[in-house]
Formats: sequence, C-alpha cells, structure tokens
Amino acid sequence: MKKASVCFCFLYFFLLCPLFSRLYVVTTTTDLASIAKEVGRDLVEVESLTFGNTDLHFVPAQPNFIVKVNKADVFIEVGLELESSWTSLVLNQARNNKVMVGQIGYCVAWQGVNVLLPPQQEINRSMGDLHPQGNPHYWPDPVNGIIISRNIRDTYIRVDPKNEKKYQQYQEEFEKKVKEVLFENLKLLKPFAGTRVVGYHQEFDYLINRYKMVVVDNIEEKPGVLPGPARLKAMKDIILRNGVKLILVSPWTNIALARKVSQDSGVPLLILPIQTKSAENTETYLDMLRTTAQMLYEALSKKEK
Ligand SMILES: [Zn+2]
Repeated sequence: MKKASVCFCFLYFFLLCPLFSRLYVVTTTTDLASIAKEVGRDLVEVESLTFGNTDLHFVPAQPNFIVKVNKADVFIEVGLELESSWTSLVLNQARNNKVMVGQIGYCVAWQGVNVLLPPQQEINRSMGDLHPQGNPHYWPDPVNGIIISRNIRDTYIRVDPKNEKKYQQYQEEFEKKVKEVLFENLKLLKPFAGTRVVGYHQEFDYLINRYKMVVVDNIEEKPGVLPGPARLKAMKDIILRNGVKLILVSPWTNIALARKVSQDSGVPLLILPIQTKSAENTETYLDMLRTTAQMLYEALSKKEK
C-alpha cells in the first residue's frame, strides 16, 4: 500500500511538473500577451493586466496587478512612458526584484523600434504631453510586432536558458506568420498609397506609415489634451486643404469629438480597433493586424466609389 502511494506521488509530481516549470509572464496589454504566448507557447503562462478595450494611458493600478507582478518571472510593458503612470507604482509595490526595470525578467519591448517623434527638447508630462519619450503606439505596425517578439524571445532565453532552442523556433515561426500577414496587407492597401488621413489621438501613425499612407495631423494638438473649439475649427480647414479621405479614432478615445470633426468636414469616420481583443475579429495580434487592414480597405474603397 505504501509503495503504491509513493508511486502515485511520483506520478502526480511528474504530471504536474510541466505546469510548475512554465514561466509566468505578465504583460500590460493584450497585444503583448498575444505575442508573448506565440513566442513561449507551452513553456509559458501569460496574463495581460488590461483588457483589449482599454485606454492604456489611464489605468487605475489595482491590488490584483501587484499580486500578479509579485509572482511574475517575466514582465513586459509597451514602454516609452505609455503605461508609466501606473506600472511604476505596480512594480514598486510588487517587490519582485527579478522583474524590475533593468533586471533579468524585465522585457524592453520597444528596443530596436524606430520611434516616431522622439523628444527634441526637455519635455515631460507636466507640460500636458502624454508622449514625452516619443510616440509609444508602435505595435499596430507588423514590423514592430516582429521586433517585440524578438525582444520577448531574448528575455525568455535570459530567464530560462535551457529552453533557448524552443524559444528561437517559436519566435521564428511567429515571425514568418507576421510577414505573411504583412505581405497580404501591403498588397490589399497598395492602391491607397499616398492617401491622407487624420487621427484623433496620435496612435495610428506607425500603422498608416507602414501601409504607405500619410497621417496629415491628429485632432488632439498635444497627445491627451482635449481639443477646444478653435482646434476643431482648425482641423476642418486642415482636412479640406489636404484632401483627407478618412478620420480615424480608436474605440477607447473620444469618438464623439472625432465624429463632430467628421460631420463638420464631410469626411468619413472609421473606428479602428488597433488593440488585440478590442473588437470582433481581433482575438489575437495577427487577427488584429488582418482586421485593421481589412477595415481600412473597406472604408477607403467606399470613398473611392
Ligand atoms: Zn498615446
């Protein structure tokens, strides 16, 4: 009887072992979580602290964030101060040295990204700018998705070197899938090269640039600063003068103001879900890339008719 129970214990241990040996990965966003899962697959358990439909600049730091980060082997944030108003608090209170900035389990997701609008002068958030380190909304560009996946791979290998070959293989396979989607999206949107658009918040620039279109301006004069009547009037002039074809807004920013600019100028509005799990058909990062390109195509095709 005793022998049997000892055997059972061993069996139980070996069955559960893979569960315990998985890296526990905490990300700030659903996009990072989707990419982190692709790069780690069976070797990781991944959780995003926020939902898809979240304005990532404004997230109340919740006690359960601190509990999760306390247990994390790896912590991944978008960076460039996108989430700094709440992640700095969470990291400090979680008391997990392994995932503090600069430590082995902290992933600098944006390393290698060609950052748009990096600061030209000494600026900070007190001046009303939400993007003091340059534009942090880089992940909707598939090329940057690849860069993120490489940075995540490198972090996994640092933390869990014995599985280096697997992480390399998983990342290569993910990169191949992103390149296929990028190829299809570029083909789909090729007829619209040079098309001019306007955004509400400064969060479409990387995506629009990748597809060879142009963001003429954003309705928010400074990221995060509510546009007043004078700015809205100026936007109408900018839109009409530049032959803008489409106004873009995300589901989590100010749709009402973007709609007003659309009505005043007569230029159509497109609500573009540039975050994973933020709308239908955005269940994964790759789905989000496909869906946003398809929505741009449909909106611009309508305009062409
Ligand atoms: Zn922003």
